[in-house]
Amino acid sequence: MAEGSDGWSVAVVGAGPAGLFAARELCNLGAEVFLFNRDIKPGGLAEYGIFPDKLKMKDGLRAQFRQIIQCGDIHYYGNVTIGQDKPLTLDGLRSMGFSAILVTSGAQGTKWLGIPGEHLPGSYHAKTVVYYYNHLPPYSQIPLKIGKRAVIIGVGNVMADVARFLIHHRKIDEVTAVARRGPGEVKFDHKEIESFVRNIDLDDFDAEIKRVTPVMQSLGQDPNAARRMIDDAMARGLPKESDTRFRMRFMLSPVRIYGNEKMGVQGMEFENNTLVMDGGNVKARGLGSYSMMDVDTVVFAIGDRVDETLGLPVTGSEFVKSPHPKYPIEGVSYEVMDPKTNEDLPGVFVAGWSRNASTGVVGIARRDGVRCAAAIAQYLKDKGTPGRLNPDSVKTELLKLGYQPVEKGMLSVLERAEKARAERLGVPEFKFDTNEAMLNALSDQVTAND
Ligand SMILES: Cc1cc2nc3c(=O)[nH]c(=O)nc-3n(C[C@H](O)[C@H](O)[C@H](O)COP(=O)(O)OP(=O)(O)OC[C@H]3O[C@@H](n4cnc5c(N)ncnc54)[C@H](O)[C@@H]3O)c2cc1C
Repeated sequence: MAEGSDGWSVAVVGAGPAGLFAARELCNLGAEVFLFNRDIKPGGLAEYGIFPDKLKMKDGLRAQFRQIIQCGDIHYYGNVTIGQDKPLTLDGLRSMGFSAILVTSGAQGTKWLGIPGEHLPGSYHAKTVVYYYNHLPPYSQIPLKIGKRAVIIGVGNVMADVARFLIHHRKIDEVTAVARRGPGEVKFDHKEIESFVRNIDLDDFDAEIKRVTPVMQSLGQDPNAARRMIDDAMARGLPKESDTRFRMRFMLSPVRIYGNEKMGVQGMEFENNTLVMDGGNVKARGLGSYSMMDVDTVVFAIGDRVDETLGLPVTGSEFVKSPHPKYPIEGVSYEVMDPKTNEDLPGVFVAGWSRNASTGVVGIARRDGVRCAAAIAQYLKDKGTPGRLNPDSVKTELLKLGYQPVEKGMLSVLERAEKARAERLGVPEFKFDTNEAMLNALSDQVTAND
């Protein structure tokens, strides 16, 4: 057992990839870990973000998470949300006697542009859509109003996933992805469009590239690179599953969404942009001319922000990290600072998307969690007298506060119940999509075993 964290109890808030891999590392370093997770199931966005059709990837990750949670020194409490307006706050965790608190609750807030109409029926943040099709309660219950012509604002991997859902699962007439900048600045991984590349209207795409060619050339960019990227994806593209037409529009900034509460979204206005070099970066600059798009659905895939109700100080989209960390790992600060006092919050750490919102894939979150665990181990070593908490007392406290925690032993029961349901329905996967259904399945099982 490594010197440093032996005998300590650490609270980890959030059991996504960052929290789970951090928990395993902390255990390897000798600590006892108590994982508190909002969702009944572990996995975070690996369970409720990654596209459902990527079953092999999701099942591989689930197997790893299962193994981590089974570690003797890891205690899991699903269905337990921590926050300043919840029965258990971060201060409450401190009072329970945890020696350190690691926040890996992801980036649960949403970014908006602040334009008129963005909260009309039919206008959504991508998070809502992604959580909906991945069956995360309570988003799974939202009656999504998806029309026939959708525009997705943003050109990253989340745009590609939302487009895949609208094209393959909703089979709507038209999906348009809109970028503020040009084809040279798109952010999606080329592999991510292979599932719907055959839905791209190639004539329209070529015309759009032709339209933006003079601006691209003025910046020394190669307009043909975009078409080559599409052709490469086409070579590996999956068969077409719908007649949905996919288009891209470049150099447009959203200005307003037209519509009303009753009819929902009825159109969207954009300002036309040009591109300029600014400090070595390509920036969009508005031209003062405008264009309309005939759409009935808008999805903003422009990133997330951390949850301001968690109880940590926030600046912009991020929790405030100490600029002068005592325990930096590879130069990165995992420690939280209160900007009002300029003092660190002792023993409070952040990792994964809670440290760097909307950045990186599972492997990056995993590495961040592992590195943060090393920072926590150093902190605990300096802290002095260790102290372990009794898992039974922690559970009793949760029950007293009114939580219905789902512990590790119950997760396998839930998995078996979902698997049995999938077999009965003859589908590759079945997920209960309300907490009540999950809790009922658990209590049915307990009753059957009595
Ligand atoms: C649409 C989408 C598709 C993606 N596709 C891929 C992909 O194909 N491949 C890939 O490698 N990566 C993919 N990613 C990225 C990957 O999912 C993330 O890198 C990773 O999940 C981030 O891990 P995390 O642990 O930091 O946060 P999260 O995964 O968000 O986990 C946060 C956890 O915290 C819990 N939580 C939240 N608030 C609280 C609270 N107040 N109290 C207690 N618990 C709380 C949640 O229940 C959740 O379990 C995708 C992301 C998105 C959004």
